[in-house]
Amino acid sequence: MKVLKTGKIEQVLDRLAQQADVYAPMLRGQQSGFFSWRSYDEDYDDLMFDILNVYQPPKDIVLPQTEKMYSIHQDGQDVTIEPIVAEVEPKIIMGVRSCDVRGIDYLDEVFLTKGYVDDAYKARRDKLTIIASACYNPGTNCFCDSMGVSPTDPESADVIMREVTGGYVWDVKTEKGEAVTKQIEDLLEEQEVELFPLKSFLRKVDYSGVAEKLKDMFEDPMWEKYSEPCQTCGICTYLCPTCYCFDIQVKNWGDEGYRFRCWDSCMYREYTQMAGGHNPREAATERFRNRFLHKLQFFPERYGRPLCTGCGRCIVTCPAGVNIIKIIDTVKEAETGA
Ligand code: SF4
Ligand code: SF4
Repeated sequence: MKVLKTGKIEQVLDRLAQQADVYAPMLRGQQSGFFSWRSYDEDYDDLMFDILNVYQPPKDIVLPQTEKMYSIHQDGQDVTIEPIVAEVEPKIIMGVRSCDVRGIDYLDEVFLTKGYVDDAYKARRDKLTIIASACYNPGTNCFCDSMGVSPTDPESADVIMREVTGGYVWDVKTEKGEAVTKQIEDLLEEQEVELFPLKSFLRKVDYSGVAEKLKDMFEDPMWEKYSEPCQTCGICTYLCPTCYCFDIQVKNWGDEGYRFRCWDSCMYREYTQMAGGHNPREAATERFRNRFLHKLQFFPERYGRPLCTGCGRCIVTCPAGVNIIKIIDTVKEAETGA
């Protein structure tokens, strides 16, 4: 087996960074996330390949928080609108966990399938290589296997790093994975090692049948009950690896300007506010219900799988203690016609 020794990780990052912008899990201040190796500062940042889930998932690498779309130039009555095509350089995410790989899979579904291809997303995705890190010791709020995600074998990873004593087995899965491996082959060592067994999950939930049951639960009192403490802060949506909603806004000064898209959150009142003043989801309860119905019913109806990878971030970060597992359990236990 090819093994990458822990002591050589920085050399690997340096090498890969010669041909791509490489993102690695780091602790930066109080935040952990995937940050560019180019921006690494050893006085302030700590590499965290052993962390399970960084605070911020890597979705901004394929779906930036803000992105210019069109430039606008006005000359009297003439208006010129030109698409803004950003240059895309190759990127590598190294050390990403299965739940976040699946998050990218779901973004792929939304931006690349069902008869619509988002060109900007596709350009970034085509140039992205994913080096995943298999999990053998799930965290206290992880429930990925309950949501159909394999913690040890993320399906669309190009390489899977498998932690062993003193390093990682380097398991190449795709042509993109072979290409990055060629660049660092001399830093890998041939070694016989034993993989750790997968430990059991502390959190489990049974999602089977939930999408069907939810069809009869639009008016269920559970929405009032569970949404009551929600502060509609939106942190659950921003930190969710699968939430992809965006708004399109314009910025202009004088005769110049541009349109851009930026992340939005369905938890905000303005998200569904219409120009005439009507708002179909005026109440916080309605927005709360929509978030969970989208994840657990509407998305599975369209794409076949729930829009939750079991990463546990929304459970950890919600200031009001809202817990998606509790909601799934309640639906499961509810008596409906389904
Ligand atoms: S993080 Fe919690 S309080 Fe904030 S919007 Fe989400 S469910 Fe509501
Ligand atoms: S809904 Fe919560 S647990 Fe599921 S993927 Fe999003 S942040 Fe993770």
